Amino acid sequence: MLLRREGDLFLFDAGEGTQVSLRRLNLRWKKISAIFISHTHADHVTGLPGLLMLSSQVDRDEPLYIYGPPRIAEYVETSRRVLDMYINYEIVVREIESPGICHQGDGFAIRAFPLRHTKTCYGYTLEEEPRPGAFHPEHAKELGVPRGPLWSRLQAGEPVRTPEGRTVQPDEVLGGARKSRKVSYVTDSLYFPELAPEVSGSDLFVCEGMFEQALLASAVEKKHMTAEQAAMLARAAGAIKKLALIHYSPRYNEHDLKLLLDEARAIFPDTVLSKDRMHFPLEYED
Ligand SMILES: [Zn+2]
Ligand SMILES: [Zn+2]
Repeated sequence: MLLRREGDLFLFDAGEGTQVSLRRLNLRWKKISAIFISHTHADHVTGLPGLLMLSSQVDRDEPLYIYGPPRIAEYVETSRRVLDMYINYEIVVREIESPGICHQGDGFAIRAFPLRHTKTCYGYTLEEEPRPGAFHPEHAKELGVPRGPLWSRLQAGEPVRTPEGRTVQPDEVLGGARKSRKVSYVTDSLYFPELAPEVSGSDLFVCEGMFEQALLASAVEKKHMTAEQAAMLARAAGAIKKLALIHYSPRYNEHDLKLLLDEARAIFPDTVLSKDRMHFPLEYED
C-alpha cells in the first residue's frame, strides 16, 4: 500500500512487482520517505531490492527510512551486499522493538502495533494531529478584535488583547477541534479482538481478507484472517469509514472474490475489494 500525504509518500510492504506498479503510477517514486514492513515473509519484502535500485537512479538528499520487524536490517544489508547494489543515498533501517510511534512528521505520526502471525509481524496506522477549530471572524469582530495580526494569533491558539483593553481567548472565536485523518494497515494476522481499538476511527482500514468463512479453520491454522473477520474487526473498531480488503488467497479468481466481498459486506457494508493501483482519496470531513 502506498500512502501519499502532502509531500510525503509512505509505502507499506513491498511485495513482488512493487517497482513495476510504482513505474506505472508514474509517481515521483524517488520521494518515498519511509517504508514500513509488516514482516519478513517473501510476499511482503521481495520488492524491496528492486525498489532500492529504482530509487538510486535519481538524486535524493534525504535518507530513506525503513521500519520493520527483527531481521529487516539483515535482509536489506544482505541484499545490498550480495546483489552488489550501488545505492547513492542513505538508508536508515530501524527494527521495531516495541509497539508505539515509530515515525513522526509535521502534523502526523505512524504507529506500529503487534499482530499475531507465524513470525513477528506489525500493523501500522498513520494518524494526523487534531486540527484546530474553524475561525469565526464575525465573533472576533463582535468582541472588538480588528482584522490583522491579532486574528492570526487567535487562530494559532493565543489569547489577545483588543485595542479597548479586553482579553479575548481563542475558544471565544474558534469552533471545536476538527477531526483529522487516520489510515490503518493490517496484514497478516489471526483475528483477535484487541486489534479493534488500534484501528478505531480509521477513514480507511486496509486489512487482509484472505479466505472465505468456510475456510476459517485453514485461516486460523495459517494465522490469517477471513474477509468476514476483517469486517467484524471494522465493525467492532467503530467509526471506520471504509474497509479495503487485500491479500487474497491465490485460490480465488476475479469472479470468486465476489464471495469474499459479499461475506464482508454482510457484516460491514462499506467494504471494497482492493486491486493493484486502485486509488482512494481521503478528504477532511470539514
Ligand atoms: Zn505472512
Ligand atoms: Zn503475506
